[in-house]
Amino acid sequence: MKLGGAPGDDAESAVLSGLRVVRERIRAAAERSGRDPAGVRLLAVSKRQPAQKIRDAYAAGQRDFGESYAQELLSKRAELADLVELRWHMIGALQRNKVAGLMGVVSAVHSVDSLRLIAELGRRARERRVPVAGGLLPDAALAVFLEVNLGGEEQKAGCDPSELGALIAAVREQEGLALRGLMTIPAGGGQPEASRPQFEALVALRDRHGGSAVLPELSMGMSQDLEVAVECGASWVRVGTDIFGART
Ligand SMILES: *Cc1c(COP(=O)(O)O)cnc(C)c1O
Repeated sequence: MKLGGAPGDDAESAVLSGLRVVRERIRAAAERSGRDPAGVRLLAVSKRQPAQKIRDAYAAGQRDFGESYAQELLSKRAELADLVELRWHMIGALQRNKVAGLMGVVSAVHSVDSLRLIAELGRRARERRVPVAGGLLPDAALAVFLEVNLGGEEQKAGCDPSELGALIAAVREQEGLALRGLMTIPAGGGQPEASRPQFEALVALRDRHGGSAVLPELSMGMSQDLEVAVECGASWVRVGTDIFGART
């Protein structure tokens, strides 16, 4: 411990080095697979991490943060209101009665998996938009990722692949929503080679449903399997533990 260091110094250096290592892993995986590292964005998953660690990551240039619980996201947002360039992403199961409170707060929802949730997101997003001649301001659209369950029974979140066509159509009907792509959380506990076939299946689903013209982004890969996700074509990796340490 440094003499005279302010409280938080040690935590800050841990977050900084975590971020540096994760960025380097992304860069190396992208280069190995012939991809431009700039095509892979890092979402720092800050659920169940203290607000100070988010400040530390922000100070290191990180701008996109993912949270899994609406209430926790809103209280951290209040605490960190001075970080004006911070973008919040909702990545966890979202109840419809929490949707209104997140409007204007989150820039993206990665965990959209039902027609009822799409309808509520669309309704609330539309209410917030500013009418202009000829329609609504396009830049207010909420980015939506459809979460697909590719692991069968092992986890409940995410739609069945057979439902994807209907969900895509539903999002595209909502003026306040911008369809960005697909998201998955693989079954298999993050074991990299267990994730690979599931990431490949997500790519295949994207191809079957209009390719990158319809679904430009893929949100896949976490601390343990981010290299495999980048190799398979991820445009967002969602990393918590390897940036911030174990969750409380
Ligand atoms: C918690 C979480 C992550 C991050 O997981 P780590 O293993 O800590 O990197 C990514 N995505 C989702 C949806 C999560 O809930």
